[in-house]
Amino acid sequence: MITEFEKIDTENINNEIIEKAARILQKGGLVAFPTETVYGLGANGLNADACRKIYEAKGRPSDNPLILHIGDISQLKSIVSDVPKKAQKIIDAFWPGPVTIVFKKSEIVPSAVSGGLDTVAVRFPSNKTARLIINAAGVPVAAPSANTSGKPSPTKAGHVLHDMDGKIDMIVDGGSCAVGLESTIVDVTGDVPALLRPGAVTKEMLERVIGEISVDPAVYKMLSKDQKPKAPGMKYKHYSPDADVTLVTGSEKNVIDKINALCMQDKKNGLKTGVLCREKNTDKYKADFVLSAGDNIETAGARLFDILREFDTLKADKVYSEVFDESGEGLAVMNRLKKAAGHKFIEA
Ligand code: AMP
Ligand code: MG
Repeated sequence: MITEFEKIDTENINNEIIEKAARILQKGGLVAFPTETVYGLGANGLNADACRKIYEAKGRPSDNPLILHIGDISQLKSIVSDVPKKAQKIIDAFWPGPVTIVFKKSEIVPSAVSGGLDTVAVRFPSNKTARLIINAAGVPVAAPSANTSGKPSPTKAGHVLHDMDGKIDMIVDGGSCAVGLESTIVDVTGDVPALLRPGAVTKEMLERVIGEISVDPAVYKMLSKDQKPKAPGMKYKHYSPDADVTLVTGSEKNVIDKINALCMQDKKNGLKTGVLCREKNTDKYKADFVLSAGDNIETAGARLFDILREFDTLKADKVYSEVFDESGEGLAVMNRLKKAAGHKFIEA
C-alpha cells in the first residue's frame, strides 16, 4: 500500500486535504491525523471491518478497545446509552479538549471498537484539523495513537511515517501536538468516577468539577499477574524505546552524580548512554546524548515521546532519566516514564 502524506497549513487549512481524508474514512480506509494530544490512527468507528484494520496496522491486541472521536457534541447521543450528571459536568468544563470519558455504549458501537465491553470511550478533540476531518467524514472516528503497539505515541507526523508507512492510506501532517501525552481517561459508569489514565486534564482539575475520583492502582505501579486493571490497555507495556531506561530518584546533586557514575561505567563497557533531564541541568551530565525536557512539566509532557524516539534514532543503549513530582500533569508524565522504564528505579 502507498501511504499518501499531506502537510496542512494550520493557519490556512486546505479543504481538499480534509475532503480527501474524509473520503478515505468513509470508504473504510485508515487516516492518521493530528490531535492536541498525540497523532491518531483513524477509521470509521461504526464500521467493524475498518476498525479491525487499525488493530492490524498497529499490531494491537484485540482486547484493547479504541476511543471514538467526535467532531461535534451532537454526535455523542447516538453512541452512548446515557450521559450521567458527572459526565455532563466534565463535558461542560473540558470539551472539546484532552479528556476521554467512558460511557455505557449504544447498540450501534461495534464490539471491534469496545473490545467486547459494554462501555465506550469517547473524546471530543479541540484540534481544528481533527474536528474538520471527523465532521467531513460524518461519522465518529475510532482513533488510537498512530504508533506501532508498544512504541511511544507519535507527537509529530514523522513519527507516524516511521511506524505506519505502507500500512495505512494517508497521513495528515499538522505539526507537533501541543500536549504530547495521550488524553486523560475517566470512567463515569460506576458509583465513584475512576481515573484510568492521567493526562493534561489533571485529577485535581477533574475533582474541582465532579468531586472525589478514585485512581486505578495501575496508574502508579506495575500490576502483578493476577491483578486486572479497569482499562484493558493498562496491562500492556507501553512507550518503550529500544534503549534500556532507568529512572533515578534522590536529591538533585545525588541524582546527577549517580547518573554520571553510571554513564562512565557504561562507556567503559562500550555502551552508548543518554540522559533525559530538566533544561537547567543539561550541562551537568556526561552522557553521549543529553536531551532536555524543558523547564516545566508541560514542556516535559510535550517533549517526552519525541525524546524517547530520539534516543532510538541515536541508538542509545542505556537511558537515565530524572523524575518529576507526581502532582498536576506530573502524574501523567511519570505514568508514561515509569512504563518506558518498565518501572525500573535507582535511588541515588
Ligand atoms: P490509545 O487509543 O492508544 O490512546 O488507547 C486507548 C486507551 O483507552 C486504552 O488504554 C484502552 O484500554 C482505553 N479504553 C478504550 N475504551 C475503553 C473502555 N470502554 N473502557 C476502559 N478503557 C477503555
Ligand atoms: Mg496508544
